[in-house]
Amino acid sequence: MGEELYNLAKKYALHNALQHDGKASVKAVIGKILAERRDLRDKIKSVMEIVERVVEEVNDLDVNEQRRILSEIEPKLLVKERRKKEISLPPLPHAEYGKVVTRFPPEPNGYLHIGHAKAAFIDYEYAQMYDGKFILRFDDTNPENEKIEYYDVQKEDLRWLGIEWDIEYCTSSNLPKHYELAEKLILQGDAYVCLCDQSTIRKNRFEGKICRCRERDKDENLSLWKEMHKDIEEGGAVLRLKGDMKSKNTAMRDPTLFRIIDAEHPIQGHKYRVWPTYDFAGAIEDSLSGVTHPFRTKEYELRDEVYFYILDKLNLRKPHLMEFSRLSIEGMPVSKRKIKPLIDEGKVSGYDDFRLPTLRGLKRRGITPEAIRLFVLSQGISKSESTVTFDQLEAVNRKIIDKRARRFFFVPNPVKIYVENAPALKKKLKFHPTEDMGYRVVETSSVFFVPREDIKSMREGDIFRLKDLYNVRISEIKKDEIKATYEGEELLKDVEKIQWVTEKSFEFVVLVGGPLFIGDKYNPDSLKRVRGLVEESLKTARNGEIVQFERFGFVRIEKEGDSMVGIFTHK
Ligand code: ATP
Ligand code: MG
Repeated sequence: MGEELYNLAKKYALHNALQHDGKASVKAVIGKILAERRDLRDKIKSVMEIVERVVEEVNDLDVNEQRRILSEIEPKLLVKERRKKEISLPPLPHAEYGKVVTRFPPEPNGYLHIGHAKAAFIDYEYAQMYDGKFILRFDDTNPENEKIEYYDVQKEDLRWLGIEWDIEYCTSSNLPKHYELAEKLILQGDAYVCLCDQSTIRKNRFEGKICRCRERDKDENLSLWKEMHKDIEEGGAVLRLKGDMKSKNTAMRDPTLFRIIDAEHPIQGHKYRVWPTYDFAGAIEDSLSGVTHPFRTKEYELRDEVYFYILDKLNLRKPHLMEFSRLSIEGMPVSKRKIKPLIDEGKVSGYDDFRLPTLRGLKRRGITPEAIRLFVLSQGISKSESTVTFDQLEAVNRKIIDKRARRFFFVPNPVKIYVENAPALKKKLKFHPTEDMGYRVVETSSVFFVPREDIKSMREGDIFRLKDLYNVRISEIKKDEIKATYEGEELLKDVEKIQWVTEKSFEFVVLVGGPLFIGDKYNPDSLKRVRGLVEESLKTARNGEIVQFERFGFVRIEKEGDSMVGIFTHK
């Protein structure tokens, strides 16, 4: 037992120390151990002795050393420690440590976008913060819309974000339970089958009028409900909650709980044809699966009353429903409903088009999962609607990739420059000014290419510096070539530094994505191509590597076979 206990104590002492500036507390560590190992409660004396010794040892280490050891023996705990520090989410109301359960409930009807990332991160982070559980629940109750491929891609995208879940399940696998509860409502007289057509239902709801279906007795309702599963045709009947047709909250005017849909379900096939609505399934699943703090976006606010009413009637546990605002980004469609038509109409190339705020699109653009996390969490759980701009996300991303991206010289729209008396050099150029990322050797002769834009305003006699190389003075400007003379290597004050490449460069295209919408209007000019020359060493870039073209911006490299293209990330 000695060694085992020692290791357990060490794990918790390190974890506790890392959460408290390197100083673990004996009491906290003992608490953790006894929570995990009830059997040790009888041996409290020897537990104390060992913990006291371990805590002393651990507190003698510096924080880096503590982190290193914990990363070896229990990396999982380290993640929590690190994540906890950066979090700015406020405490949850009515939350008990170890008992918080959250869930993220995507519908498998498309790819996830950054709005989903906001929801998923908030759910996930709160579960982590309280050492609780996080459920991934596929809300797959619209058989017409769900596709089997989306279950998998949504999981892949969540994993890409660094999100892990403790439990995964599909709402569609619980339909028998839903039916049981529906029957309970019918037998209590709290739900009825309505045979009115859609437009009549809508009209009555609008006018606050009751229809005759509402007056049927429960046995009739029960047999009609049974018929819904068999012979009544699609659209011929719905099960409605007996709410309040005069309620000021129109959501409470006998909302639909179940409807008939004959489409084949990607998992359930034709096993069911009566499907719960969001109002019913959402409330039931949150309650039954033990979720303590379900988050929804603010547009569901009016439906909260329905949510609690259903749970009330069924005598089910009521979670603490939480709300936050939907994420909107200026010029970007942060909604599956807006993204889908763009794809169907061919206005973007697919779900991974880098102009889209889908996670796949953002990934292709060079936006990192870390940036997405920090960005969405910085929006917090406020309910006030605000449209943010994409450059706020760019700013977060820039800080992250600036330290990691190798620098290369790219010359858009190049003009040739011939330097007289140019020394032939083999110049070692570092891939990064401050980080250790190695270097490349560039051989220079008399011929260079520089961006036409940078040279535009220069006159004969002006001096500029070929960046990281030497100074030159312009001697003659012709349409397709500029002549210059070598002016030494010494750094001069107030001399412009210009990107250059040699003849050993190759043609390169950078795709630049702009906003898909300007105001509410589709922008047909959202894709631009910038052509230029890039230095030969870019060939060493990996597929997917994010590099920086100096003075141009960050670019993510896509390679396929021999072809290579850049996608503009941001400045
Ligand atoms: P969409 O408009 O993209 O179709 P949705 O709400 O129908 O959105 P779901 O797959 O049902 O998509 O969403 C799963 C979860 O993600 C829900 O809890 C939803 O509130 C949340 N969510 C979706 N879009 C956003 C957004 N733009 N901002 C914040 N949360 C969002
Ligand atoms: Mg939805």
